[in-house]
Amino acid sequence: MDPRLVVAAQNAIGFMPDAEGLALFAAARDRADRGPLLEVGTYCGKSAIYLGAAAGECGSILYTVDHHHGSEENQAGWEHHDQRLVNSETGQLDTLPWFRRTIAAAELDDTVVAVIGSSTTVATHWTTQLAMVFIDGGHALDVAKADYEAWSPKIIPEGLLAFHDVFEDPKDGGQAPYEVYCQALNEGWSLLSATGSLRVLERE
Ligand code: SAH
Ligand code: MG
Repeated sequence: MDPRLVVAAQNAIGFMPDAEGLALFAAARDRADRGPLLEVGTYCGKSAIYLGAAAGECGSILYTVDHHHGSEENQAGWEHHDQRLVNSETGQLDTLPWFRRTIAAAELDDTVVAVIGSSTTVATHWTTQLAMVFIDGGHALDVAKADYEAWSPKIIPEGLLAFHDVFEDPKDGGQAPYEVYCQALNEGWSLLSATGSLRVLERE
């Protein structure tokens, strides 16, 4: 991956360890020549740099979907709250300005396109087939399951599906992404690679 983009990703606010980001990049670069990539859960654009780097190398594009008001665990009083991301006028979390800064600093404006809205609302009206979908949105079970069920049918036959925050041991983290990952394994997807909590799947 372009070292300039690695540094940009490392400097971005977010939840994507370097090794997992590079694995995400490698998986995406392997498929991005076959169609657009889509991410659920933009936050401040950290993982979007890894996926965007792959899209850029292949002349493809990354759509990244988020309502930009944060998940449950990002709200005040929760474990992953960051006071810098609160809009002082509305009092609401608003990660969109931070995403814009991240993508501008990485010079990926022509490769990473923000889609602002609820994941399942966007999916309902989405008809373009995708080479890869990365699911890293809300981590409540109903939300993660809805993301998987809404987006996975839009992946091309030889495409990839990736999940973040898959923890097999409950001691390491919440179980919803793991449960949805297991559902995918039972529904015709097979494991291609595992790096930290990242799981990349391909169709059997
Ligand atoms: N991929 C990011 C982290 C994503 S955090 C990184 O690299 O750092 C999860 C994000 O999912 C939050 O920004 C939250 O706003 C978004 N999210 C949660 N539920 C959502 C939903 N139903 N629709 C759209 N976005 C959602
Ligand atoms: Mg995550």
